[in-house]
Amino acid sequence: MAKTLSPVCKLCRREGEKLFLKGERCYTPKCAIEKRNFAPGQHGRTGSRGGRGMGTGRASDFARQLRAKQKARRIYGVLERQFRRYYDTAIRSRGLTGLTLLQILESRLDNVIFRLGFASSRPQARLLVTHGHFTVNGRRTDVPSMQLGQGDEIAVREGSSKLSYFKDLNAVAEKRNAPAWLGRDLRQLSGTVTRMPERAEIDGSLDEQLIVEYYSRR
Ligand code: SF4
Repeated sequence: MAKTLSPVCKLCRREGEKLFLKGERCYTPKCAIEKRNFAPGQHGRTGSRGGRGMGTGRASDFARQLRAKQKARRIYGVLERQFRRYYDTAIRSRGLTGLTLLQILESRLDNVIFRLGFASSRPQARLLVTHGHFTVNGRRTDVPSMQLGQGDEIAVREGSSKLSYFKDLNAVAEKRNAPAWLGRDLRQLSGTVTRMPERAEIDGSLDEQLIVEYYSRR
């Protein structure tokens, strides 16, 4: 029987690198990238396109821009239309377009919950939000894409805190570092956005300049 590969692991294989979409498994030898680092549908490294979806040779500018955009989209779990809307918002802002785009992505509720250490991955954070386990400023929400701003407070909903996942969570979250732009209260399982993240506090492997170039030429 054919070996099945998790759909999210296929995204990593497509990008040819780890996107850390499966929580703890990503740090183990079970990670699909650790085992076979070439794109789904390819059968080893001997093919003319090498190990990545767009080739490992001298990719064209467009291919590199496309890959940079797809990688960011996949890391944050955002559909193309929504990603384009984020770009349009960023370009209308006063700040640097690329940095603003990354800040918009980082300010999503699902990402903030992941960053606070309340979920092991962004997909898990998204699931927890859609199941209504969190409140923002005291109000229950089930919208993972909700944009948070400075001063917004996130907490585990009172009813949810009795679930075994949340009962054990402060001990688990303690082992995960939270970034300096988020305040965290592990005892209460809550957090606050104290400011917007700086570039150095966002994934350094993302290339926002290439993303801006990708949309600028369209
Ligand atoms: Fe799968 Fe995580 Fe490895 Fe990506 S990094 S291939 S999501 S286990």
